[in-house]
Amino acid sequence: MAQKKTVALTFQNRRSTVFFVMYIILKSRTLVDISTAEVKEKLLDYSMTREELLLEHTHTFIAEYSYKTGQLEIYPEDGHFVDFDRKSLDTDFEHAFYKTVFKRDLPLYQQLIDFSGVTHSVQRDANIRLYVVPHIYEWFRISVLYYIDEDGERDRIVLAFTNAEKELEAVHELKSLVTVDSLTQLPNINTFSMQTWELLKNHPEREYAIVRMDIRKFRLLNEFYGTSEGDNVLRFLGVKLQECMDSEELYTYCHLTSDIFAVCMSSDMESICRVIDSIQTSMNHYPINFEMVMSFGIYIITEKDKQERIPVVTMVDRAAIAQRVKNNYMNKIAVFDDKIAEKEYAEQNVIMEMNNALGSDQFHIYLQPKVDMITGRIVGSEALVRWIHPTKGVISPVDFVPIFEGNGFISEVDFYMLEQVCKMIRRWLDKGLEAKPVSVNLSRSNLYSPRILNDIMTCVERYSVPHDLIEFEITESAFAVDNIHLNQLMEQLQKNHFRVLMDDFGSGYSSLNALRELSVDILKIDIKFLPVSQNDKRADIILRSVTQLADQLGLEMVVEGVETEAQADLLKKMGCRIAQGFLYYRPMPIEEYERVLKKQK
Ligand code: C2E
Ligand code: MG
Ligand code: MG
Repeated sequence: MAQKKTVALTFQNRRSTVFFVMYIILKSRTLVDISTAEVKEKLLDYSMTREELLLEHTHTFIAEYSYKTGQLEIYPEDGHFVDFDRKSLDTDFEHAFYKTVFKRDLPLYQQLIDFSGVTHSVQRDANIRLYVVPHIYEWFRISVLYYIDEDGERDRIVLAFTNAEKELEAVHELKSLVTVDSLTQLPNINTFSMQTWELLKNHPEREYAIVRMDIRKFRLLNEFYGTSEGDNVLRFLGVKLQECMDSEELYTYCHLTSDIFAVCMSSDMESICRVIDSIQTSMNHYPINFEMVMSFGIYIITEKDKQERIPVVTMVDRAAIAQRVKNNYMNKIAVFDDKIAEKEYAEQNVIMEMNNALGSDQFHIYLQPKVDMITGRIVGSEALVRWIHPTKGVISPVDFVPIFEGNGFISEVDFYMLEQVCKMIRRWLDKGLEAKPVSVNLSRSNLYSPRILNDIMTCVERYSVPHDLIEFEITESAFAVDNIHLNQLMEQLQKNHFRVLMDDFGSGYSSLNALRELSVDILKIDIKFLPVSQNDKRADIILRSVTQLADQLGLEMVVEGVETEAQADLLKKMGCRIAQGFLYYRPMPIEEYERVLKKQK
């Protein structure tokens, strides 16, 4: 301690030098590892100046030599941050640190302290390795200050050695953060892209494929077992993926995000299947009571992709599209092909044109009458959207509704349809035409918006349409997602005297469950979901049971897709009354519907 005090005094006389050195050190440091408690304790001790404290904590060693007086000052006195010969410092300052410098860095160090011919004060910096104990070196940031006095004489030289290992560690850590996924320690997508391009460039004679994989129902696994178990599964998959790839010669891999991983490997299907099998088998052994089914999408990289240098992420996306389009429960491997490419292209076109189409009134209402099979009279209709494209003509909703459902645009279309329907009914009422209920389809992606009821009410009120003239069709598949929330919406619609239909009843997996949990007014069954023909006993039984079920629950029933007299006869025999189908009417433009209604009157 006493020794330090003396040095402190000397250093206080040279405050400006020390502050300048500290300024350089702090400016060049990214992290200073100072524990607050430690600092406070030392400050209270008053044995160290603030400057010394900082030098101590930045692991800095300073040596100052005056050419004029031959006086040498060093801090800390014992120079414990570096390994050097104290004695040689007194006798030969210029060369004293040569042995401290790692051999390979010596030329640089020599250059650094060579001031021959220098006529003004200068400062130089460099990163150099110094021995901290014999045989062990660490990185140091070296600042050299060389002073020339007013008469142009050399005055003094100050060397400051700051240990840079901590910064390097921090830089290394930061670097790994941007190149590696922190959960699995696998390369992240950026690294994967880079490495994949390297691979393609270095071995252009080979053919490659991107294999994208994820765990089916991973969200459920997280819900059942918690996210930390989910993380364990992902780490496990990361390790297994690396092990499985070991058998391959050339490859790259990464953890993209969530449960998604990707590899680039030989496009040889045998090799791909071997890797896939091996990953699936490994996952089967994960000790958890959950069916760990992996799904794989494959994209074969083409020469054109290489020439055009399409981003690796796009290739991974294409593998994902193959997965989405082709994978089903039985089929766990899907390869992106021309058909999918065409579909993707068509989808892209639809997406590019949709906003303009809505703005320029290209969406139109077609109405398909619902008919009382006993009397043959129209009792209402369903509004079905048609995209009337200026060059492509009439586009069926089957070709765009699923795309709009995927990107959320369907809510705009549904509300546009609702508004057009309200306008149409308003016109009927104003003109004294017969107004029968019209049902509007609400896509399931719409149903979870908190604004939906408000939006519906605002729209219907704007045209003062009586609520019993509007019905809402909600497809059965929507019901499986969040029945509690959906039921609230349906009850509110019913409270406001709108009738609610369950569309496509029987098409999903949980029809009966949905019926138990949700209050609907009308069941709408598509005949294609019933195996109906005249001499099929089992179909008879199914149809009869559904009819009785609706009856006992007090629900009305509409059968859609009725195409033949035979189907109509059978339905009537079972007690069904309302039908919608080509046998009676096809969907038609509004004016035609008005004409048909007028004729019926
Ligand atoms: P959906 O709501 O179940 O509509 C019934 C579909 O069956 C209509 O097809 C209709 O033209 C067709 N159809 C009616 N009778 C027969 C028949 O006898 N035989 C056959 N084979 N088909 C018949 P469309 O108009 O092509 O609509 C298809 C689906 O697109 C609709 O099924 C609905 O899910 C959706 N969609 C249509 N318009 C809209 C809309 O404005 N909003 C939303 N969200 N979806 C809509
Ligand atoms: Mg419908
Ligand atoms: Mg339907």
